[in-house]
Amino acid sequence: MSTQHKNKGPWVHRFLVTFFSVIMAILCFWLLGFVVDDIGSWPGPNYEDLEKELLDPVLIEKQKSFGDQVAEVKRQISAQNQRQKLLRDSTSSSQKTMNQLLEFQRLNLQKNVTPSAEEQQALAESQRRFLANQKQYQLLNQTIVQFNEQLTHLEGEQRDLDTEIEKLRKPIDEQYHRLWGRHDFKIAIFKLALLLPLLLVAMVLFFKFRGGTYTPLIYAFGIAVVLKVAVVMHEHFPSRYFKYVLILTALAIVVRILVYLLRMIAFPKKDWLLRQYREAYEYFFCPICAYPIRRGPLKYRFWTRRTIKKMAPSSTAKMAEETAYACPACSTGLYEKCPQCGEIRESLLPTCQSCGNTRELESASTP
Ligand SMILES: [Zn+2]
Ligand SMILES: [Zn+2]
Repeated sequence: MSTQHKNKGPWVHRFLVTFFSVIMAILCFWLLGFVVDDIGSWPGPNYEDLEKELLDPVLIEKQKSFGDQVAEVKRQISAQNQRQKLLRDSTSSSQKTMNQLLEFQRLNLQKNVTPSAEEQQALAESQRRFLANQKQYQLLNQTIVQFNEQLTHLEGEQRDLDTEIEKLRKPIDEQYHRLWGRHDFKIAIFKLALLLPLLLVAMVLFFKFRGGTYTPLIYAFGIAVVLKVAVVMHEHFPSRYFKYVLILTALAIVVRILVYLLRMIAFPKKDWLLRQYREAYEYFFCPICAYPIRRGPLKYRFWTRRTIKKMAPSSTAKMAEETAYACPACSTGLYEKCPQCGEIRESLLPTCQSCGNTRELESASTP
């Protein structure tokens, strides 16, 4: 008979199968990721090469030399400023000395003491130094002004050159962008050339061997490939297109699932139906209309799926009344005489518990 059930194994075993399937999917995903990354690391266009090729090297040289010159002038200005600062200190100290000497002389004159030749010489010396410092300070000022003018001039020219080069760079940037786009597209094609055949293999495996012994392997591999394809598409194609690919795929999956569910109700599969019947019998409900099966010890009881587990079996009544029984609500026959051994058996389950006689379930018997 064809109602042979697949052996699902104990739950630990099933758990291990699921666990290792997940591990396998992750490993497949990683492996694909490494290969795809290696493809992605192929060198793209080089901006410097492109610049060398398309931009006048003289201009670049000029820009560099301008930069050097500006730096040099700035360095000079800062050196002169430093010197000026030192000079200022020296000037103020010589000024102080001079003032002290003058004051000293003035006091001496008040006392009618004529200053000695040495004192006069010292005063003259300090005056001379003060004036010399002043003069040098002025000279330095002039130099700094000159340097500043030079700097302004240089910076102006540099700015002009910069804008000129900027203008020349624009087509180079565009070219670079174009080359990158082409490179990116090439990489995407190579990646898909690797992934799409794998996707095809996964699909063929899925449609051919789904439901077989190695289904978890097929699922793990398939999910890894599909995810990687999605990631690659997302990386390389503008999100504008990717969005549609994603939503259409999701829509296809959802429609497929809905159709499957609807078909399952309209044309129930034997397995599915059997599971439904089995569960209903376990809880003593009519499998067709869910009305309670009140026979034997349950004749005057009330229960739900939840409470029936806690119900104590009545000790006085017989365990089960061995008579045929039809659902009083929907008149489906639920217990009947076995045609082979004459004992009472469940009408909607495949095998007679007394003699083991098996018969096909009528599928789609929903009224
Ligand atoms: Zn019923
Ligand atoms: Zn039988």
